[in-house]
Amino acid sequence: MSDRLPLKVLLTAGQIRDRVRELAADINRSYPAGRDPHLVSVLKGSVIFLADLVRALDRPVTIDFVMVSSYRGDTRSSGRVTLVKDLDIGLTDRDVLIVEDIVDTGQTLWWLLDNFRARQPRSLRTVSLLDKRSRRTVEVDIEHVGFAIEDRFVVGYGLDYAEQFRQLPYIAVLNQQGRQRREDPPSTK
Ligand code: 5GP
Repeated sequence: MSDRLPLKVLLTAGQIRDRVRELAADINRSYPAGRDPHLVSVLKGSVIFLADLVRALDRPVTIDFVMVSSYRGDTRSSGRVTLVKDLDIGLTDRDVLIVEDIVDTGQTLWWLLDNFRARQPRSLRTVSLLDKRSRRTVEVDIEHVGFAIEDRFVVGYGLDYAEQFRQLPYIAVLNQQGRQRREDPPSTK
């Protein structure tokens, strides 16, 4: 199936590598000595970004994973996101940095911020490699953004279409005709 879906490169491996280094430098600067961040990667799309980011961060970090499921057709913010895999490590008094692949409507990040805030972290921030600002339906703060992109369905560098394309070292736009309809619920990230 994958070879029948045309891809157009949006961000090359080199552009991503350079931007990840810049993001890591920004993140390093924003946490004082002794306040090493606790990175929470949102499965599955952010794992490749996480792997490159932690190696570019020149300091000790801890890592955990969370998995959520988004119901794209459901506009009720409370019922739209459900927890598929919870964290292994508590967040209390930690300097938590959520690591996202992409923020689209913002519903998933809004839910994560709300859920994590209740666990009383010392601080709570977000880094997202991609940001589709024009699609936002809820206000969310993202402290570190890699690239702001147009409203296109993208794959690669961890991002999938029907579990394919995650392994691509670049980010590409998937032909709109090959794209899953937004209304198709549910989808895990
Ligand atoms: P939200 O709309 O809640 O901000 O984003 C929900 C999730 O939809 C994202 O975390 C991501 O997993 C998925 N998503 C949104 N836009 C894209 C896209 O362009 N490509 C891919 N592969 N996933 C996307």
